[in-house]
Amino acid sequence: MSRIDPLPPLREVIDRFDLRAKKALGQNFLLDLNLTARIARAAGDLKGSDILEVGPGPGGLTRGLLAEGARKVLAIEKDARCLPALAEIAAAYPGRLTVLEGDALQIDPLTHLTPPIKICANLPYNVGTELLVRWLTPPQWPPVWSSLTLMFQKEVAQRITARPGSKAYGRLAILAQWRCDARIVLTLPPGAFSPPPKVESAVVHLTALPEPRFEADPTVLERVVAAAFNQRRKMLRASLKGLDPAIGARLERLGIRPTARAEEIDLEAFCRLARDFG
Ligand code: SAM
Repeated sequence: MSRIDPLPPLREVIDRFDLRAKKALGQNFLLDLNLTARIARAAGDLKGSDILEVGPGPGGLTRGLLAEGARKVLAIEKDARCLPALAEIAAAYPGRLTVLEGDALQIDPLTHLTPPIKICANLPYNVGTELLVRWLTPPQWPPVWSSLTLMFQKEVAQRITARPGSKAYGRLAILAQWRCDARIVLTLPPGAFSPPPKVESAVVHLTALPEPRFEADPTVLERVVAAAFNQRRKMLRASLKGLDPAIGARLERLGIRPTARAEEIDLEAFCRLARDFG
């Protein structure tokens, strides 16, 4: 019995179901249930919310989410070996946990959930960024989810929350911060996981804003930002030349220095530029 629920400790679960971690599935498990409950709390008040969890594995975070009062958890797990362990959790929380076996890149279960919806996951590193980008680019804004609480490699977490002027600032920061508040809420050393990964990890909490911080067409903004950061060492007058041969004059008119580099340009200026390309 653990401190957060009447279920057995995770080490025992892993031994009993022989859940040896597979590197190809990005399996680094969290075994400390106090820690998983803390991550669940970082997602905010869970009572009255449905939660989507990707990659529950042996269920450490799942148990944290349920113990912290989630109305319902829908978990997608690719590794069938984990299903019996997850079934035990479902039995301990009748009617509150549904597990889908499959690839989160192929299944989109958000429509099966009832708002308010929060997404909370210790993501498999190999698909984490791709899932984040999908969640941040839904067909309509605001999205169906109200917040994302996600574990990443610390370096990725820094790229999501980076401010202009830093090395980590780029497309991901702009994509995330244009329509969300994004902050790192917890940093974890490799030793928090079993097996320990090579690098530190961090939990990022993103809250969806009701509308974008600054007006811009998403496709145009993405095109401008991609062009600027694809050649991030170049000055904007060179990196954006492909979008407009007379880019220098356009930038001057918009009050943006043509000799600046992409990492010096804040979100507002990128949106100003995107609106001008309209
Ligand atoms: N949530 C557990 C924890 O915190 O201990 C496990 C986290 S582990 C970093 C990532 C989990 O995602 C593994 O259980 C792995 O099998 C699963 N996974 C990997 N790729 C997946 C995919 N494409 N779709 C769904 N689950 C996936």
